[in-house]
Amino acid sequence: MDAIYREERSEITQSLKSSKSADNVNSVVIKFYERLSGRLSDIVRENNLPIACHKGCNYCCHLRVEVRAHEVFTIARFIQKTFTQDQTRLLLDRIRDTVESITGLTREEHFAKNIECALLSRGACSVYEVRPSMCRKHHSIDVEQCKRTFETPHDLAIPPVGHQLLIQSTRTAVLGFRDGMEKAGLDSTLYELNSAVLAALKNPECGKKWRKGKKAFPKYAEALPAM
Ligand code: SF4
Repeated sequence: MDAIYREERSEITQSLKSSKSADNVNSVVIKFYERLSGRLSDIVRENNLPIACHKGCNYCCHLRVEVRAHEVFTIARFIQKTFTQDQTRLLLDRIRDTVESITGLTREEHFAKNIECALLSRGACSVYEVRPSMCRKHHSIDVEQCKRTFETPHDLAIPPVGHQLLIQSTRTAVLGFRDGMEKAGLDSTLYELNSAVLAALKNPECGKKWRKGKKAFPKYAEALPAM
């Protein structure tokens, strides 16, 4: 796992050294997701893991998701490039409603309620290609456990649904990415997904500020690293 951490940290630092433009950051994030997916697929194949996840199953899309600024800007760009005006308007309405329902909740209270992610549309992730790392970490091998977590959201003692190898591999790569980014002078604060995506879509200045080394969304800054 140390090798994955070192590889990611060095890859990200090097890739961001030449340019921190919006285009380059977007390309660095997409390549990171491709490497991550490749490693997770290898682990699944080599260990013959019976993955239970499939399109239409979305128990885990009712959990609180925490993300870093680069993931938020990648999602915002994907929405701006691929959604129609109507789809964007509907999405913004959903995000505003979701943000309203989580406003005032502590991190723990949010985890303990089944609040549907606003990016979920007709049962599937509307930004699946660029879904954040925390969502990629959720590779269930037991749908019954996902169901139990969903049906008893207040029971935070239920262990994570994913296989340890997949969780560890994702976590290590994400930490390598985070440290590489920090080395390149970019802030890596964690944010709540819905609030941060709304801010990024509404205010293009957030991205410019972040690429200059500042916090992207100070109003929504999170205190605790969750992965
Ligand atoms: S971003 Fe996509 S995969 Fe992640 S919680 Fe939202 S709908 Fe689900």
